[in-house]
Amino acid sequence: MTETVFARHEHPNPTSAAERAAILAEPGFGKDFTDHMVSIDFTADPDHPDGGLWHDARVEPYGPISLSPAASVLHYGQEIFEGLKAYRHADGSIWAFRPEANAARLNRSADRLALPVLPERLFLDAIGQLVRADRDWVPGGEGEALYLRPFMYASEAFLGVRAANEVAFKVIASPAGNYFGGELKPVTIWVSRDYARAGVGGTGAAKCGGNYAASLKAQQQAAAHGANQVLFLDPAHENAVEELGGMNVFFVFADGRLVTPQLTGTILEGVTRSSILQLGRDMGLTVEQRRITLDEWASGVRSGEITEVFACGTAAVVTPIGRLLDGDEVIESAGGTETTLALRERLLGIQTGAVEDEHGWMHRLV
Ligand SMILES: *Cc1c(COP(=O)(O)O)cnc(C)c1O
Repeated sequence: MTETVFARHEHPNPTSAAERAAILAEPGFGKDFTDHMVSIDFTADPDHPDGGLWHDARVEPYGPISLSPAASVLHYGQEIFEGLKAYRHADGSIWAFRPEANAARLNRSADRLALPVLPERLFLDAIGQLVRADRDWVPGGEGEALYLRPFMYASEAFLGVRAANEVAFKVIASPAGNYFGGELKPVTIWVSRDYARAGVGGTGAAKCGGNYAASLKAQQQAAAHGANQVLFLDPAHENAVEELGGMNVFFVFADGRLVTPQLTGTILEGVTRSSILQLGRDMGLTVEQRRITLDEWASGVRSGEITEVFACGTAAVVTPIGRLLDGDEVIESAGGTETTLALRERLLGIQTGAVEDEHGWMHRLV
């Protein structure tokens, strides 16, 4: 495939160095955005072997997008997204963590939501173009990175119910600090008994906005009970543990096993999840992907068989899970954090360039 040429429209009035420095001094999460974004448009063409053409690739000023009120994404939710980070290394170079995995997952999500395939090359070029344009926005402090948010949506103005013939792909970027703020303290989790985020045959394995819309009510319940996050269960399989609203879950056993729920089609396959499975193997842990129920969690913590529980995802990396609130019942924290922190250190070390990248996960952007 020939390389796509991105048109470049520089921001006429970019953020001043002083303002940017103030933002980078305390990045937070997802509240400030860089000066540019990348856009690529798709138009379906039944005569084209790929079903249509991606065109008008461009780097342009970050800003509001113009959309018809009839755009089908606003009515039927045909939308998917990705999340990955770019890290500044000590020598000033900038690297993305496993972006090929995000490109592949975007296309699995696209397939489920009847959106067009975006060639991997175009995905990698898009993030490379944006990070090069806004390289000064990549923070270099501990635990900091530039969070990249690629997304794709049905832009066609049409109220009939079918896959849209006009689609937009964009990438925006936001400097990110520690997701849960401050030091790494265990998060309290609320068990969702009233709501599910996914069902058999649904979109649970796709990274689509609709899954998040379905999780917000449960998240509100969690907050009302003083919890940080929601745990979703599969009631059809003896309350098998699925995942949190936006993070996968792991268990560390006293005998050296590292267990995470198997992918069933209702769980999102995290890039962090698959990386932790590999790092666990590297550390000599026995890795298992299998069904694990809420009962096993509770009894394992009680007996001491389960020593640590943690959540993982791009935004929060690896975070220890503390107490679990299940209605009026409380499952106490497993207590330990040794393996959790070792995995976190290893992963962050690779991402920030402090630990050798044995698996070739890092992709240089600048
Ligand atoms: C994005 C996401 C994750 C974590 O995936 P990573 O690739 O590790 O960031 C987990 N669960 C859900 C529902 C998600 O949307």
